[in-house]
Amino acid sequence: MDDQPWYQDGLHFHCRTCGLCCKGGRGNVFLSDIEIDELAQHFDTPNETFREEYTRTNRNGELQLREKRNKDCILFKRDLGCTAYEHRPLQCRTYPFWNANLYTKESWQDESRKCPGIDAGPLHQAAEIKIIAKNDGIEMYVKKRRA
Ligand code: SF4
Ligand code: SF4
Repeated sequence: MDDQPWYQDGLHFHCRTCGLCCKGGRGNVFLSDIEIDELAQHFDTPNETFREEYTRTNRNGELQLREKRNKDCILFKRDLGCTAYEHRPLQCRTYPFWNANLYTKESWQDESRKCPGIDAGPLHQAAEIKIIAKNDGIEMYVKKRRA
C-alpha cells in the first residue's frame, strides 16, 4: 500500500512576517499550562495575572489567548509583530504544517490563500513536515472535540 503523503516531494514555505495569521480573528490560539508559565515569565508577570489578563476559556473549556477588540491576537502589535515571538505557543511555531492544512492538497491550497508564505521560499522535506505535524499543537484539541 502506498502510504506516502500527497506532499511526498516536500512543500515550500517561508514566513514573510506579514502578521496576517495573528490579526483580524484568524484563529484560536490554544495554550498548555507550560506555555502559560513560559509566557508569564517572558512578560515578567505572575502566572495568575497572566491568565487573567491574557487568556480566556472557550466554550469547550480550553484555554486560549484573548483577542483584542479588533480581533488581533492579544500578543500582536501591528508595528512590532508578535511580542512573545521567542515564546510563542506551539501552534504558532508549527504553522502552516498543521494536520488540518496537510490533510489534502486542496486544504493546503485553501490555506495558501490566507498565508503568502505558503508555496514560497525554501523546500521543506516531507520527513521534516511529518515530524512537525506530529505535534502541531492544535490537532489534539480538534481530536478531543471530535471524540
Ligand atoms: S500569514 Fe504566513 S507569511 Fe504571514 S506571518 Fe503568518 S505564517 Fe508568516
Ligand atoms: S502568539 Fe504571537 S505568533 Fe501566535 S498568534 Fe499571537 S501574535 Fe501571532
